Amino acid sequence: MSSQPNIQSLIPTIGHWLDGGPVTPAQARTCEVFNPTTGLVQARLSLADAALVDAAVQSAAKAFPGWAGTPALRRARIMSRFRELVEARADDLARLISKEHGKTVSDARGEVTRGLEVVEFACGIPHLLKGEYSDNVGTGIDTYSMRQPLGVAVGITPFNFPVMVPMWMFPMAIACGNTFVLKPSERDPSPGLLLAELFKQAGLPNGVFNVINGDKEAVDALLAHPGIAAVSFVGSTPVARHIHQAGNAAGKRVQALGGAKNHMVVMPDADLDQTVEALVGAAYGSAGERCMAISVAVAVGEQLADVLIGRISTRLKTLRMGAPDAPETEMGPLITAQHRDKVKGYVDIGVQEGAVLAVDGRNAAELAKLKGFFMGACLFDKVKPDMRIYKEEIFGPVLCVVRVPTLQAAVDLINKHSFANGTSIFTRSGEVARKFANEIEVGMVGVNVAIPVPMAFYSFGGWRSSLFGDHHIYGMEGVRYYTRMKAVTQRWPAPPEGEAAFVMPTMR
Ligand code: NAD
Repeated sequence: MSSQPNIQSLIPTIGHWLDGGPVTPAQARTCEVFNPTTGLVQARLSLADAALVDAAVQSAAKAFPGWAGTPALRRARIMSRFRELVEARADDLARLISKEHGKTVSDARGEVTRGLEVVEFACGIPHLLKGEYSDNVGTGIDTYSMRQPLGVAVGITPFNFPVMVPMWMFPMAIACGNTFVLKPSERDPSPGLLLAELFKQAGLPNGVFNVINGDKEAVDALLAHPGIAAVSFVGSTPVARHIHQAGNAAGKRVQALGGAKNHMVVMPDADLDQTVEALVGAAYGSAGERCMAISVAVAVGEQLADVLIGRISTRLKTLRMGAPDAPETEMGPLITAQHRDKVKGYVDIGVQEGAVLAVDGRNAAELAKLKGFFMGACLFDKVKPDMRIYKEEIFGPVLCVVRVPTLQAAVDLINKHSFANGTSIFTRSGEVARKFANEIEVGMVGVNVAIPVPMAFYSFGGWRSSLFGDHHIYGMEGVRYYTRMKAVTQRWPAPPEGEAAFVMPTMR
């Protein structure tokens, strides 16, 4: 008998959070969870089947009447305690994110902060839920409106922000009086479970927040489940489109945020030091795996384009790629080997299509002897709108520069793209900025701000194939999405019984 431990038995299995506690079914299908920095498997993930999904929905449905009937102020107090606990554990959460996602720990800490801002906004729920009141709409008759929660809401989230994106959803949903089932990405499932534990410590009743890990099987079971009222999705466009269609067909309210190809317009009068730093951070931060990453720089004028390419190329020579927990690291690995190979494949396609590869980072990881799913920064010049590297979302450290002659040409180019999540312009001219902000057909716009993610008291959302559904996410749009309006018309004291009226009631 060997005394060597069985390696498989040392790998932990990550489960679910159901009805106020952790659950890991013994017989479930599993998948591997990698550490992208080392390329090694660090855990196995239990994948929920339809029965487990049903148990989570039942738990949430059972908790709903009590939670919906809890005064909003009490719900806000629990949210406020949750905020304190997350803040206290923010560094642990950041390390957990970084270990499964690969982004730098400081970037992950920023993600937690942005998520917490939505929790802070949700703490104001008693004020946000206030309705309207009209006295004496007819003689002795008053009308008031109220917003009521929907029931069980679901969040299906992507790998790239395992804390922030769920926090775009569940704090608003739960503060509004709904109960919630979160289905995180199977690539980085652990932070969602820690959030559930902290929510329980904050005093959240069992069943109000459940976390079900899984893949397509779990998502399909959620979409088909009659006990679910609303589905929020964030992820790639093909899946967003599918979720929107399937959820609507099943009679659910759906908001589905999809992919992106965000353009930054650089005008000849822009402050180039500021622009290049902002552009490099926005294009290569988090290895380009952000839905608001800048993946296209639109250079207005040939002269500016030449200077811009030179300045970015120089800056990329000093871009520090490496372990995400090293303080000097600016860019970590990609999420999986498959995704890294897909991104590299796009660079090959761009070369075949005739774009000029000004910086080639395809082999930078091998040269630097990095073992995980790393790839170096790539920069394309002279990219044309009919190329696949321009039309499709690459979601990696690849920046395309498109040259245009005028601001109008830049606006027309961006308005024709199928994605319309975010965009920005760098200029010193207020007139140019104003024209751009007014004429651009994109959901979120930055002026000398590369990544214009709106604060928690505004709302986040793109246009065209970057969002399916009528509501943006969080902020007041979140309150509207997770509630439905009721208007009550009342007469006090009640009049004596009169004769039945067969005409449309009017208030006289
Ligand atoms: P993804 O679409 O592959 O996965 C998102 C979620 O859907 C995951 O929970 C996954 O388990 C589930 N899923 C995947 N395939 C499915 C299928 N066929 N049927 C049902 N469910 C399925 O996205 P990802 O790779 O995790 O994340 C990256 C994508 O998310 C990018 O396209 C990025 O632009 C997008 N994103 C968009 C926003 C935004 O605000 N618009 C924000 C973050 C990420």
